[in-house]
Amino acid sequence: MTELRAALAERGLPLLVRVGPVVPVLAQLHGELGFTQLFSHEETGPGWSYRRDLAVAAWCKSAAVTWQEFTQTGVVRRLRSRAGWAQRWQIRMDAPLQRLEGRFTAAVSLDQAELPTLASLGLAPHGKRLQAAGETAAHSMLKSFLQLRGHDYRKAISSPLSAEQACSRLSPHLAFGTLSLRNAHQATETAIRRSPDPAMAYALRGFAGRLRWHCHFMQKLEDEPAIEFHNFARAYDGLRENDFNEDHFAAWCDGRTGFPMVDACMRSLLATGWLNFRMRAMLVSFASYQLWLHWRPTGLFLARQFLDFEPGIHWSQMQMQSGTTGINTLRIYSPTKQALDQDPQGLFIRRWLPELARVPLPYLAEPWNMDPAVQRMVGCVIGADYPAPIVDAKLAMRAAKDRMYGLRKTDDARKQADHVQARHGSRKSGLPAPAQRRKAAGKPVDSAAPAAQGELFG
Ligand SMILES: Cc1cc2nc3c(=O)[nH]c(=O)nc-3n(C[C@H](O)[C@H](O)[C@H](O)COP(=O)(O)OP(=O)(O)OC[C@H]3O[C@@H](n4cnc5c(N)ncnc54)[C@H](O)[C@@H]3O)c2cc1C
Repeated sequence: MTELRAALAERGLPLLVRVGPVVPVLAQLHGELGFTQLFSHEETGPGWSYRRDLAVAAWCKSAAVTWQEFTQTGVVRRLRSRAGWAQRWQIRMDAPLQRLEGRFTAAVSLDQAELPTLASLGLAPHGKRLQAAGETAAHSMLKSFLQLRGHDYRKAISSPLSAEQACSRLSPHLAFGTLSLRNAHQATETAIRRSPDPAMAYALRGFAGRLRWHCHFMQKLEDEPAIEFHNFARAYDGLRENDFNEDHFAAWCDGRTGFPMVDACMRSLLATGWLNFRMRAMLVSFASYQLWLHWRPTGLFLARQFLDFEPGIHWSQMQMQSGTTGINTLRIYSPTKQALDQDPQGLFIRRWLPELARVPLPYLAEPWNMDPAVQRMVGCVIGADYPAPIVDAKLAMRAAKDRMYGLRKTDDARKQADHVQARHGSRKSGLPAPAQRRKAAGKPVDSAAPAAQGELFG
């Protein structure tokens, strides 16, 4: 906000910040300034922000104030069908960037007052190592990614070690608006066109696709706000709701499940507010399958940790990784396999779990397999210095698979999946995704074909 206030001041505009419930604040300002127009951006937010907007709309009507909202992403309000959505996205993102030119004179002089601080908002210091905020930081992240860091994007985004640098790290900026999606998209397309290095251009094309996903997932929440609370496919209602184990939840939240890759990821997230996609997916998969926790409480907890919380992406992904969309392939991650694949030298685990620092590498992914004498020798007694695993991962995974695949086969689940696909699935050629695949495979296109399997983009 400091940077925004300075940038506006250069144009002769004041930044006034008021904190409080929106309608009384607007009413008070209206009393002081007598404005007749209100401008804001469209927000695809959680339920509380929708209720806030309804209250603002009602107040505007009563105060004869005209409220105009502007789009800020590729999300379309009151969308009737997903057909043609990708083309609309392209047109919006290719439209010229708006530049703020010249100086302005504020109609009234305003007492800008101090900007709020954590203390004035009644919040405790967070003590996290968060990435830098503001427009300058956003542009410098974008530049370093497009010029240098993005080179190994496709192969380096899966490991939490390399992803830290190789991912764009633009998510908080896109979520807070310190960088617009249009800006990111246009800069990326320019970098792809101009890059003399085919490998770099290839990497950036992978990234450009992610910017489309951003809006594709947000559109799901815009079209069906209930997915913040309910399963996409209602055939999955009741699956986990009555089995919530508070102790397992608490252990998962604290990063003390006894599974090093899960715990290292959680502790890294708690300390920095960020985690790469694959490790977010693994955390959620572990909670939803091995621990059989419903996605709503785990999702709320993660939303409060993510610096980049974006409700449309978040709730869609929470459900995808929990198997309740009905249309995506079930991905049940094994923390042991992820540790071996993504952290083969154990650097990430040792960085975030210092109690495992001296555990020999062959035991690092499953330290409970260490002989008790070795445990004592390396100063890591399982159950004392580091938790014993809170579940038997293999048994839990088998039980989860049986339940999920059993349910997916039912007529109700299939019907629901078709419905979800028709409403939310991607359309690359105007056909729903399963039909696209059948067409591509030269098979007859049948609209009642089983819904998308294996679609990350579903
Ligand atoms: C359970 C779960 C919850 C998630 N919650 C959020 C969230 O609240 N906010 C959020 O921005 N991302 C979320 N993601 C998606 C993804 O993990 C983050 O966008 C990414 O890790 C952010 O880092 P980055 O900007 O460096 O990503 P990059 O790989 O550099 O991607 C660039 C941008 O593309 C978009 N993007 C990337 N991957 C995805 C994806 N799978 N789906 C939709 N958009 C994507 C994001 O806007 C991201 O900033 C979630 C993923 C999972 C599995």
